[in-house]
Amino acid sequence: MTDRKLHPKTLALHAGWRADPATGAVAPPIYQTTSYQFHSTEHASNLFALAELGNIYTRIGNPTTDILEQRMAALEGGVAALAVSSGQAATAFSVQNLARAGDNIVSSTDLYGGTWNMFANTLKDQGLEVRFVDPTDPEAFRRATDARTRAYYAETLPNPKLTVFPIAEVAAIGRPLGIPLIMDNTAAPLLCRPLEHGAAVVVYSTTKYVGGHGTSIGGLIVDGGNFDWESHADRQPLLNTPDASYHGAVWTQVVKPLGPIAYIVRARVILLRDLGSALSPFNAFQILQGIETLPLRIYEHCRNAQAIADWLAARREVTTVIHPSRQDGSQRARADKYLLGGYGGLVGFELAGGREAGRRFIDSLKLLYHVANIGDARSLAIHPASTTHSQLSPEERLSTGVSEGYVRLSAGLEHIDDILADLDQALAAAG
Ligand code: PLP
Repeated sequence: MTDRKLHPKTLALHAGWRADPATGAVAPPIYQTTSYQFHSTEHASNLFALAELGNIYTRIGNPTTDILEQRMAALEGGVAALAVSSGQAATAFSVQNLARAGDNIVSSTDLYGGTWNMFANTLKDQGLEVRFVDPTDPEAFRRATDARTRAYYAETLPNPKLTVFPIAEVAAIGRPLGIPLIMDNTAAPLLCRPLEHGAAVVVYSTTKYVGGHGTSIGGLIVDGGNFDWESHADRQPLLNTPDASYHGAVWTQVVKPLGPIAYIVRARVILLRDLGSALSPFNAFQILQGIETLPLRIYEHCRNAQAIADWLAARREVTTVIHPSRQDGSQRARADKYLLGGYGGLVGFELAGGREAGRRFIDSLKLLYHVANIGDARSLAIHPASTTHSQLSPEERLSTGVSEGYVRLSAGLEHIDDILADLDQALAAAG
């Protein structure tokens, strides 16, 4: 076990792995196997009864994926993690692990569009209500809470608004009520450690900055091990009442000898077992490769995004630049409190020429890629009004912070002069 006191740069290279005991291989091997030979029937029964932890079947766990899980848990300051097949699966599991039909969660309105859709439609169709509240008023979370509220949910640095979420304030409202705060930290790995501010669970799309190379879809849930599920048995029945699908196990009791990991064990042995959103060992390996350079990459993303924001602010074609460094008052104070070392890699801006200028700008880019993604090593751009937000009415778009001339950039790792040269020629072409 790697010493958790090591610096993030060191943990990113070492946590969860030393060398292969069989071969001495230093790089984590890709254990491309579906299943694992049991030592004996007693060993097999112990594994199934959770009396002993070990490999059973790759849908539920895999040694390559285990390294990824340990590494991210260490970087995040949590006790354990669960890797899954996408960020969407991580979000769904993080909520479904606590709430079922008839229950509700309270979520910030400032969300990735795919999460919004899942919450507003798919989970609703399954009987799980998501109550959306404005995150600028933390007390709105308390007001939306009732006896069936099982979790609060938010993103640390949500785009397009890029206003940092009041993590400590909302976590403090939930804790005495037995309600954990689940934070999607996809846009701010290493810059923010939500568990240190009171969040109980952290969710990632590892597809973005964590993997960093735009090669592999993946997701991950980190259990903070810092939430007292047992003292709030009425509030959290899924962790505190006998689970019929696991011979009556009460998760807070059965898992106690293994540590404060009831939440993440249940997510693995119930949700991953039954719903099957397993990460492939190959993708786990790719994401591990990405993590090795995350501490180098993330601050470079921040530096390039900052330089882009400053440059755009001086352009006559641009009416507004959306970046935490350009906010003031409480928004800026939160950005400075929760993001350390940089304001992230995303920048938004509004073009004076509106919708048509936005489209012309995107169509004129030569270096930046026009894709629906963020957090790639390459710089990316999109015009949300004609793509990710095109199903919404212009009024709805505006309420999510997307004007007709809004463009989102994800600053990559290219030389800043080359990025700015491409933006310059595209702005000129946009008119
Ligand atoms: N969370 C955030 C903040 C995202 O930006 C995304 C994807 O864009 C997701 C979750 C979903 O992740 P994935 O695409 O890996 O399913």
